[in-house]
Amino acid sequence: MNEKIVIANWKMHGTRVSNHKLINDLLPALQGMDGVKVAICPPMPYLAQLADLLGDTTIALGAQNISERAQGAFTGEVSGQMLADLGCGYALVGHSERRSLYGETDAQVAMKFEAALRAGLIPVLCLGETIYQRRAGNTNAVIGSQLKAVLEQVGIEQLAKGVIAYEPVWAIGTGETASPEQAQAVHQHIRHSLAAKNPRLAARMPLLYGGSVKAENAAQLFAQKDIDGGLIGGASLDADAFGTICQAARI
Ligand code: PEP
Repeated sequence: MNEKIVIANWKMHGTRVSNHKLINDLLPALQGMDGVKVAICPPMPYLAQLADLLGDTTIALGAQNISERAQGAFTGEVSGQMLADLGCGYALVGHSERRSLYGETDAQVAMKFEAALRAGLIPVLCLGETIYQRRAGNTNAVIGSQLKAVLEQVGIEQLAKGVIAYEPVWAIGTGETASPEQAQAVHQHIRHSLAAKNPRLAARMPLLYGGSVKAENAAQLFAQKDIDGGLIGGASLDADAFGTICQAARI
């Protein structure tokens, strides 16, 4: 069984004061988390603040996005090197909100994945289908083509240095969670697809589930054979809920 990973995605929420309180409330709940890696992805302007707050803890820092470019005249972008310089260990790439609201393509996501690796970060590749794609029976095909773009860009050996987060778009921020069986079926499909390239790396690849994970459903999701943890949005803004979710990953 792979070590569990739980990543908080704070999205565009927080202030310096509320961030401080959330971390202070969270730290006691995250005591004794042996065997679980926890990371927090705050908004970009708060990365330095979180790096300070998390400094003496085992909680890692991550970014919600990364530029595919290394440096230059790219106004508003943040490079992998800058994220690493700020103390990040992880970078989300291809979150569905980036894909749907900001037009990120599979090709761009693949370049971001590679940029994160180049900067020494662990990319967290988000994959997921819309409800229409699921109803049309196209879930595996959609996930397959999102994955293929990254595999073609970097190859299986490099892909395996990252993390994959299966996040059905219909479950993100909606309160509607994939059932443990639905999530497990897609995770198994992803692992089988990777195993066709390299069974050893596929077995070790961390596959996280994201989409309305809550304190109440985390344990059941994390108990599935191919679910190695979670990417948590809304519930990560509540110290009690996020603490319970992280504890559920220990089981
Ligand atoms: C996310 O933003 O990655 C996410 C899974 O959000 P939520 O947990 O709120 O559905």
